[in-house]
Amino acid sequence: MINQLQEKYQLSLLMLLSFVAVLGVFPFVVIRYMAGNVTAAIMDIMIILGLIALVVYASYSKKIRIVSAIIAAFINIGVVVVIIENGIDSFLWVYPVFASTFILVKPLEALLINVVAGISLTVFSNAFDVISLVSYAVTIIMLSLSTFVYASHSAMQFRLLETLNTVDPLTDAFNRRALNTDMQAALANAERNDTQQLLAILDLDHFKMVNDKYGHAAGDQVLKDFVKITTSHIRKYDRLYRFGGEEFVLLISGINDDQHKSFIENLKKAIKKELKTPDGSAITVSFGVAAWQPKTTIDTWLQRADEALYQAKAQGRDCVVFSNKEELGTNPAL
Ligand code: GH3
Ligand code: MG
Ligand code: MG
Repeated sequence: MINQLQEKYQLSLLMLLSFVAVLGVFPFVVIRYMAGNVTAAIMDIMIILGLIALVVYASYSKKIRIVSAIIAAFINIGVVVVIIENGIDSFLWVYPVFASTFILVKPLEALLINVVAGISLTVFSNAFDVISLVSYAVTIIMLSLSTFVYASHSAMQFRLLETLNTVDPLTDAFNRRALNTDMQAALANAERNDTQQLLAILDLDHFKMVNDKYGHAAGDQVLKDFVKITTSHIRKYDRLYRFGGEEFVLLISGINDDQHKSFIENLKKAIKKELKTPDGSAITVSFGVAAWQPKTTIDTWLQRADEALYQAKAQGRDCVVFSNKEELGTNPAL
């Protein structure tokens, strides 16, 4: 989900950066043309058109990261070529271009691009016949390093925001907000590829008694242990979410009909074996499971799993019930 947030942020930065770049470069098209330097004017026009085309492509294709990387390479190669061509006249462009690279790609990638472009300039440009090479090296290193530190700090804050936004602070399971986003993605994926997706609601049995008998802090520890144990028995791409209180949701993808019953049963057995109260008694879990079907929505999927869980509780707990209810879908005629 945070990826979506980050993508939106990255796209708005991309648009802003390209807008500023187009505004900055356009007057030079006129200036170069008036000065009779047609090659440079054409190069500037190509930079403007290329940027516009890439940003339009990014906003339609949503391939923001790859387009950002292409723009980063594009403007760095562009500035090196323009400086080699125009010499001292275009030299100052190196500073905004090097700084902008950190807005477009990851800090380390940007630093690497800066190093390659910076060295290429010293090797291929004759601007240093006029400008002091030492001043160039010192200012460019200061610019790149300070922007690198700022960009790294910003990336770290994004990761922190990601955690705060998607992770339950007590148990470290994903939270309900993340569940909503991931369920939307799972539904879209299931519809597109017709792959099997399973949603299970797991509810700890008689958890109130654990709290009453051992205290709230011990109850909290049991919830943490539950998440650790469950996470260690699911596959890499399966995800566990805290749905609320002592209820959790498990989203399982790409598992076929023959395997999913044994997968859930094994998970139930493993939790029963490993999850204990402070005095070592086993804690059991009830499962309500619903497989994806065509026409499933977020609400109907959760509802089918919840009804199955209700049956599991009614059957005496410590068991798994698979929903056999059919999705009816919404009939616009009704
Ligand atoms: P059942 O087998 O029917 O699910 O019974 P239960 O006792 O597990 O269910 P009930 O809904 O009656 O009680 C759930 C309890 O979970 C009550 C609530 O105090 C406790 N609980 C909810 N969130 C937390 C939490 O974050 N920490 C602790 N320690 N307890 C919590
Ligand atoms: Mg319970
Ligand atoms: Mg409950």
